[in-house]
Amino acid sequence: MTAKILDGKAIAQELRQLLRAARQALGPSEVRLASVEIGQNPAADVYVRNQRRAAADVGIEMEVCNLPLGTTEAQLVTAIQALNRRDEVAGIIVQRPLPIGIDPRNVQSAIDPHKDVEGMHPANMGSILYREPLLPPCTAAAAQHLIVSTGMDLRGAETVVVGHSEIVGKPIAVLLLHHLSTVTVCHVGTRNLSEHTRRADILVVAVGKAGLVHGDMVKPGACVVDVGINQGPDGRIVGDVHFPSTAPVAGWLTPVPGGVGPVTVAMLLRNTLRAAGAQV
Ligand code: NAP
Repeated sequence: MTAKILDGKAIAQELRQLLRAARQALGPSEVRLASVEIGQNPAADVYVRNQRRAAADVGIEMEVCNLPLGTTEAQLVTAIQALNRRDEVAGIIVQRPLPIGIDPRNVQSAIDPHKDVEGMHPANMGSILYREPLLPPCTAAAAQHLIVSTGMDLRGAETVVVGHSEIVGKPIAVLLLHHLSTVTVCHVGTRNLSEHTRRADILVVAVGKAGLVHGDMVKPGACVVDVGINQGPDGRIVGDVHFPSTAPVAGWLTPVPGGVGPVTVAMLLRNTLRAAGAQV
């Protein structure tokens, strides 16, 4: 078997077409997304550039607020509160990683939940327990969208999520549970990882360790979604799933780059339009 590639770029392009129509339906007034960044981070800069390009493509104005290195948590929270008060700002995102000493939870909680387009405010995170919230966490929503796009029957499917972070692993597990798949979450305490991954019809890996999952850990025909983003030894970006050994085994596989990433950006724009619509 050779896996069908879940082409995130193509799927994101389809989504952006729908989003352009949703943007038009909001009328002529500007939809603004504010991105807050501390200092200069080349990796984040690339990400912001991609976000800005994708936002412009659907008619969302992106405003980048660069705060100087040395900005304290209190100063960052003050800057976020100022954005919360501006009516023309529909959505706010804070670029990560944040400098050491700044607690991402405090920062995320400072964003008005109605403008929290990354879906990471505790109110939005919590509301995913009640099925699809207005602003779901973007990466989890992207993974869900990619899996649903395969057309496979999720009801009763054995689903294994590797990684239990608050912003990725846990929300993915909850969203897939809503489809009545049988979800197992693996983490550092899991005794025998491959015992779990080998029985997964749907395998989502979100750890941040290059090549953690190899083809011999994958059930033939499984849908494998690789969320990880790592720098390989040659400097290239690679996922958590070893692509060459997994592609001959899996039924569907997301590439890295070009899989979950572009769909995550599309979900961010979808959330921004939803936030703008709700604020109107
Ligand atoms: P994170 O906060 O570091 O969480 C990693 C998770 O993996 C933790 O739950 C950790 O458990 C678990 N883990 C560590 N080693 C493990 C092992 N050997 N076996 C099983 N689980 C293990 O990272 P994250 O924010 O969730 O991100 C995960 C990856 O996704 C990163 O590569 C990140 O860059 C990428 N990412 C991609 C997108 C995208 O749009 N494509 C978006 C967000 C993140 P403990 O906490 O118990 O150590």
